[in-house]
Order: sequence, then C-alpha cells, then structure tokens
Amino acid sequence: MSRICREVRELLPAYVDGTLSRVRRPLVALHLRRCGDCQAEFSRQRALRTSLVALATPATPPEGLLDQLLEQSASPRGAAPLRGAVSGARPALSVALLAAGAVAGAGAGWVSWASARHLRHRFRP
Ligand SMILES: [Zn+2]
Repeated sequence: MSRICREVRELLPAYVDGTLSRVRRPLVALHLRRCGDCQAEFSRQRALRTSLVALATPATPPEGLLDQLLEQSASPRGAAPLRGAVSGARPALSVALLAAGAVAGAGAGWVSWASARHLRHRFRP
C-alpha cells in the first residue's frame, strides 16, 4: 500500500462522517476517484456507517402522524359506515369496532411510513 493510500485510509472515517476538514476533503475525494482499493474501503465504511445510523435512529413516527390518524378516525366520513353498521348493537361492541378501526388505520399509516423511510435509506447515494 502506498504512503498516500495509508494517509487516505486514516482520513476515511472522518471523510465518511463528514467531519473531515474542507482542505483535506477534496484530496481524499480525488484519491478515491483514482484508487480502486481506497474506493472499495470507502464504500465498505460508508455502508457500515449507514447501517449503524439506521440502527441508532429510533423508529419514531414523524410529528403529526398520530394527530392526523386520530383526526381521520374521528372524522364523520370515516365513522359513518361504522356508525350505520353498529346501530342497535351493544355499546361494548361499538367501542370494540371503533377501536379496531383506529388500530387498523394507525397500522396502515405506520407501515406506509416505515416503508417510505426504508426506501429512502436504500436509495441514498
Ligand atoms: Zn489508495
């Protein structure tokens, strides 16, 4: 391994993190374009960092999602078919149906949000 390669390898973690100084960053970038070995090492470290970041990021729904879901489940449009279906039924059953509807709505929202987040990660350059 050449001396410049060794120097670049030492700088790679900071380069991947984005904490490398502005002066050194273009030098590393230039070397990565010319050196396949260092480029491969860079890709490896970047992939590792991406998965670490994904692991460290708590799976918290975006702000407002819960409010939005609650609003949807409480809206007259969403509740009307349910109301018709349960009219005359026992109150406990109505509550159970409403709760099931709310949970299903929240679940669907969660799944679409989670997969969108997953896709963003996968296609990040
Ligand atoms: Zn190199």
